Parts: sequence; C-alpha cells; structure tokens
Amino acid sequence: MDARRDATEATIAAHQRLAASLPAETGEDMANATRGFLGTIPDADVPGAWSLKPFEFLKGERPDTVNPSLWRQARLNMQHGLFEVAKGVYQVRGFDLSNITFIEGEAGYVVIDPLISAQPAAAALKLMREHRGDKPVTGVIYTHSHVDHYGGVRGVISEDDIAAGLPIVAPEGFLREAVSENVLAGNAMGRRATYMYGALLPRDAKGHVDAGLGKTVSMGSVSLVPNTVSIQETGERLTLDGVEIVFQVTPDTEAPAEMNFYFPQFKALCMAENCTCQLHNLYTPRGAQVRDARAWSHYIDEAERMFAAEADVLFASHHWPRWGSGEARRFLRQQRDLYKYIHDQTLRMANHGLTPVEIAEELALPPSLAAEWHTRGYYGTLNHNAKAVYQRYLGWFDGNPANLHKLPPGEAGARYVEVAGGADALLAKAREAYGRGEYRWVAELVNHLVFADPANGEARALQADALEQMGYQSESGPWRAFYLTGAQELRNPRPPSETPRQGAAGQLRSLPADALLESFAVRLHGQKAGAAGELALTVAFSDTGETFAVSVENAVLHHRPAAGVAEEGAAVTLTRPALIGLVIGETTLDKALADGSVAGEGAAELGRLLPLLDRFDFWFEIVAP
Ligand SMILES: [Zn+2]
Repeated sequence: MDARRDATEATIAAHQRLAASLPAETGEDMANATRGFLGTIPDADVPGAWSLKPFEFLKGERPDTVNPSLWRQARLNMQHGLFEVAKGVYQVRGFDLSNITFIEGEAGYVVIDPLISAQPAAAALKLMREHRGDKPVTGVIYTHSHVDHYGGVRGVISEDDIAAGLPIVAPEGFLREAVSENVLAGNAMGRRATYMYGALLPRDAKGHVDAGLGKTVSMGSVSLVPNTVSIQETGERLTLDGVEIVFQVTPDTEAPAEMNFYFPQFKALCMAENCTCQLHNLYTPRGAQVRDARAWSHYIDEAERMFAAEADVLFASHHWPRWGSGEARRFLRQQRDLYKYIHDQTLRMANHGLTPVEIAEELALPPSLAAEWHTRGYYGTLNHNAKAVYQRYLGWFDGNPANLHKLPPGEAGARYVEVAGGADALLAKAREAYGRGEYRWVAELVNHLVFADPANGEARALQADALEQMGYQSESGPWRAFYLTGAQELRNPRPPSETPRQGAAGQLRSLPADALLESFAVRLHGQKAGAAGELALTVAFSDTGETFAVSVENAVLHHRPAAGVAEEGAAVTLTRPALIGLVIGETTLDKALADGSVAGEGAAELGRLLPLLDRFDFWFEIVAP
C-alpha cells in the first residue's frame, strides 16, 4: 500500500501563490534547451546506467504534488540528445546529471567533462560519431574536481590512449581535490547524498522529479584517470588537436579546483559549473565545506571582462547554453551579482546582529534578479546559502548562549514531550497545526517526539506527512528529495543491522597509500585507543613500494614516510587492497597470515591496531535516533 498522501489544500495554495510570483514565461529557456538538436537515442536509455523513461510523466500536466517552478526546470532537464552549440562545439545533454561537450579538432574530438560513469559517456560519444563522423578522441578536459565531470572518462578513452599519453587537461590541484574532497567524511556525505539526489525515491509525481542541476545521477562504472596537464594560471593558452584554448583558473569557487575557458576560433565560452541556469550551492546539503561566494562572484566578473565581449555563445557543464554576446554579458553579470548579493546582504544583516535563521528568513533578491529564471533556487536556495555565508565568516554558533550548549535531540525531545503534556497531547497539537498547513512547525514539534520515542508510530506517520508536504512545496530539487526521503524512511524504517552495512569500498581502493592511512585515522575509536595505550609498527606496501611508520599515541593515529623497514617498530608487509580488506573486515588477520597476503613480525602489532578501527554503517539513521 502506498502511504504517500496527496497534496493538501495548503500545499495547493502555496503553489498558486508561488506561480503568481514567478518570472514571465518567454519560452526562451526551452528554445535554448532544444536549439541545435541533431539527434538522440530513445529515452536517452543506456541499459544499467541511465534512462529518462521513468520520467515520462513529466510530459503530462503538472500534478499538485510538484512545485510549479521545479516542474518547469524538470521539463527543461528532460531535453536529451546531441546539440550543436556552435560550429565545432557539440554537447550531449540529458545523458547524466551533467553535460558532455565535444570540440571538433583537426584529427578528432576533444572531450570536455565525460559525465559520472563510463556507459553514458560512451553512449554520448557514439551519438557524436554517428552525427559528426567516426573520429578518435584526441584530448580530454576536466573543468573541475567533482565526480560528475570526470567519473565516466573510461567510456571515451582506452587503456591504450592513457598509455600513449593522450592529453588530459585539468586545473591545478584537480587530482588532490578529486581524491580528498569526499574521503575523510565520505561515509556521512555518501549517506546524506542518498537524501539529496532522491536515489531511494520512486520516479513519479510523489517522488523524484528532478535534482535541479540535472535529472539525477547515472549508475554506471566510475573511475578517476589523473590529468596529464595542469593549468596553473589565468591567461594560459594551450592548443589541443589544433584548437586554441584560453584558460581562466577559478580556485575556491563552485569547486576547490575549477577553471573556465574560451575558444577564440569558435567564439565559445565554457563557464564550467561556475554559471548554471539556477542558483547553485554555497553549501551543499549532502554536507561539504562551505564555498566562497565572494571568490565565486569575483571570477565570474573576471570571465565577463576577459571573454564576454567577444563570445557568441556561452555554455556550461550543466543545463543549456545562451547565445549572443549581449545575452552572455547580461547572464554573467546577473550570476556574478546573485552570489555577491547573498554574500553582502548576509553579512550586512549579521552586522546588525541577526542570526543565520533570521537572515535566511529575511533575505530576498532585488527585483532585477528576481525577474530571472536562472537565479531561482532549483539546487541551492537563498535560505541555505545565506546560512553558508554566515557559517564561513562566523561559524555554527549564532552568538546566543542559549544555543551554546544545547541538549542532544533525544534528551531535549523527552523534556519537550513532557512539557507538552505527553505524547498524545503533543500529537494533538501537532495535528491541529498540520490542519492549518503549518508544516515547518509540525516537523519541529514532532521531531522532539520521534527522537524521544522513535517507536511511536503515530509520531513517525505525522512527521512523514509534514515532511512530505514540505517536499511537494519545495522549488529546490535537493530540498524536495531530502523531505521526501525523510518521509519514506520514517514510514519504512530499515531493520537494524548487527554488522555495519559498509558503503563503497571502491573509493578506499582508489586512494594512494598516504591518503588511505590518513583516512584510517578517522576510524580510530578514541576511547578504545585511549585504553589500549601506545603502539607502533612499520607498514611496507609491497604494491607501491612505500613504507610508513604508523603509530598510535594519545589515541591519535599517526603516519609518516619511513626511511627504511623497521625504523619504528616491527614491520609488516602487505598490499593496499590487503590492508583495506582487513580494515573493512572482508578478511581476518589470521587468514591473511595463512595465505601470505600479510607477513612480518609487525603482524602482532597490526593485530592490536585493527580492533581499534571502526567500520562505518552506511545506513545510519537520519530522521530518527
Ligand atoms: Zn557538476
């Protein structure tokens, strides 16, 4: 039985109010999203990895369970296939969360941003070849260090290409950031990402409709092939397969390592992910370090001054291009000011003493920006981006000592329930509020009861109902997905597991030895390690030839390159995969010693260390304790 509710009258009324305040529909976005269409494959279907078929319902009338503005974006993100952006510049859109772009060189194609996974990237290349000729890939450019811009590279290049030194160009710091951004907090980010991208939701009018940035994420094979060329500075020029490119490096913008670039011969400007047809995230709700709105705005301004006067077309790694120099300039200036406005106004209000929640509630765009579709919060929102700016400058604490040392949710919850006169009285109050459409208040109130007593089925059901209506009302794809996934997990809790359901070990396997040991430091259980005392061993990796001195001191795991074996404590010799297997519990030390995958006198010390390292349960609870 589907426990999901219809939209309430309050939700329908909220949609009507929003619809009345939206920018005028000129049809320009749909014209841009379909311009230059050359062909596609049915439903952009790439078996096992990607398909738009489940989203066919988007072709119909908007249901009451979807925000009208998000519905519009969701339909724009349904346009799929190969599109001519300019003579020599082609994009495949709608084959993944991101776009893949092909530049026609003298001998073949330069690929920009080969999607998240190999299968959709290969399908896109095949489509390009069918329409533009069966030519080789002559180079790859990664615009930035996020996986939706490099993960599918093996779908467009082969092992032979890599061995032959095919140029792979990326901004300075690309590899470091690509590897490090998701490692130390990886399990928490990965789990929260299941909320943010709606991966667990049905694809229908009461489920996932769009991520805002694109439809959703592809599910094929992901890999990371390091770049061979690093772009160091703005103004740097490079000729790839006979095509000249002028680069602008934009560190600490949408990604820690990112770059925009311009093709003089095509008069085409690539804005990477620094400009998209929406308000992007200064804070990404799956969890990440907050981004620098000031730097972001500065680099858009610089791009406008460097390239826009000459450019005939502006394209990016998500969404559709914009044609004409005048339009490019207008768009860039608006995007520039969108981020700077949020930055400046947040700090203005903070300097008046307003707290993050108050600022986020008050912040509104000026009429000139509010009149544009591309400033709307399909991915980021004004609300959470204002909190990001506050956090960057002032941190998590709002300055009110009542919030300095709050009770944890379970303890606070039990006391709130008591003050409300017990669970039934709290639920009665919450149901009245639900009837008035006050879903934010219901969620705040009932959350106390769920955390005080997660077994209370009525509380869980009411909380799910409130989150669900908030999801239906959300303009932001990630907000909708967060709310609806929360509702789903309240209604259908996973059975608890005795052993940790560990996330992808694939990410661990891609780490260099140094980063792998660093990631193990955040697995060390402080209390257990404190009781175990000091230990030291030398770890020799037979697969990489590296040797590290590894120690535990003051319940902290240290590692540093060792000059020689057994420099500090007895040595153990193993491979990185063998060590990963031991840490995540795929095998035991006894078995590893027996089969020879671990050897050396240091094995005993390793045997003391392993039980001190935690295994992370990917499916930790979010909406309940
Ligand atoms: Zn992206």
